[in-house]
Amino acid sequence: MRHPVRAPADRAGLTPPTPRRHSAPMPSAFPSLDAFARDKLAGLDAAGLRRRLVPTRRTGGVGAERAGRPVVSFSCNDYLGLATHPAVVAAAREALERYGAGSGGSRLVTGNHPLFAELEAALAARKGHEAALVFGSGYLANLGITPALAGAGDLILIDELGHSCMWAGTRLAGARTLAFRHNDPAHLEALLARERGAARHALIITERVFSMDGDRAPVADILALAARFDAWTLVDDAHGLGVVGPDATAPLEMGTLSKALGSYGGYLCASRAVIDLLTSRARSFVYTTGLPPASAAAALAALAVIAAEPERAARPLALARRFTARLGLPEAESAMVPVQVGEAEAALALSRALEARGFLVVAIRPPTVPPGTARLRVAFSAAHAEPEVDALADALTDALADLRAVPQ
Ligand SMILES: *Cc1c(COP(=O)(O)O)cnc(C)c1O
Repeated sequence: MRHPVRAPADRAGLTPPTPRRHSAPMPSAFPSLDAFARDKLAGLDAAGLRRRLVPTRRTGGVGAERAGRPVVSFSCNDYLGLATHPAVVAAAREALERYGAGSGGSRLVTGNHPLFAELEAALAARKGHEAALVFGSGYLANLGITPALAGAGDLILIDELGHSCMWAGTRLAGARTLAFRHNDPAHLEALLARERGAARHALIITERVFSMDGDRAPVADILALAARFDAWTLVDDAHGLGVVGPDATAPLEMGTLSKALGSYGGYLCASRAVIDLLTSRARSFVYTTGLPPASAAAALAALAVIAAEPERAARPLALARRFTARLGLPEAESAMVPVQVGEAEAALALSRALEARGFLVVAIRPPTVPPGTARLRVAFSAAHAEPEVDALADALTDALADLRAVPQ
């Protein structure tokens, strides 16, 4: 909104200023901008790639109400059902009532509530690292970690299927960046052999459990290569923590509080020196408001539940394996199973067919996954009951037959 410019006489009070009226309801409308947006949207529509928000209310456990209809959700990353666990909710409520809704500033200014130190100690202990740093989200953690550790003159090698925020972090870093073939240590080795010598430092980036494929990285093999070539390794454990145990621990272990922990936020576990450096240098930590204390309290309570109830943590993988066995798919390696369909429109049609049968299984399309690999992403939770899993498998078999598509 523009400030009306007053003539000097107005300031002297000689002529009362006429208040300016904004008759147009949207003074910010700008035709070429809207034309640009509409043009882009038409392209997305034509390719089946437009994304839309659907009002979805989680109704407890794996229940949801989608566009007003009840469904059983297989699309949630709350793998252990902890977002609604009574102990987690109580911890969040108590922190909310005692400390308020927001943390009020960057953690380096006034936003560093003592709950963060407690949470960081618990995360570091869980990972067997010296220290940890909690970020506003997993996305923010990846945006901050990589540019603080690598830059011009360095080499970054990243799994080609790495999460969008890992790629975003590498772009901000400005180092020479090469993708290695998905879960292919031989290709990684070849790239290290060819490129490592010319670089000051090298950083390898991968996910422990791939978010859209559900398969696991050969972390131990990657760490062995890293040791040989003096490269650092960052592992994104967003879908591992609390659900699948690590085969090996990387010097840089990041993840999120928003999936199995049922809360919100992100973290990095590493040595004390690395954490102290990131505290000063990760821009997405320094220049953003600290998490609400209630989110930290919820995550702490969730870590305690996971430690106390190992049978809960074992359930999502067991259910995923029950599902893959029933469908004759390769055995699940994590709590999530992709059902590859191919084209975006086919994945959307399959998702709609399942929704009509009472199951929420969201279609995943490019650019989240490579072109031609649109899929359903089926996520299992400790809160699912075995009959729900079997019913989904049967509904999927029917829907696939109807669409004359076959799972790959
Ligand atoms: C979800 C996810 C993130 C982002 O975590 P948020 O806390 O949701 O921002 C990062 N990496 C991977 C692999 C993820 O799946």
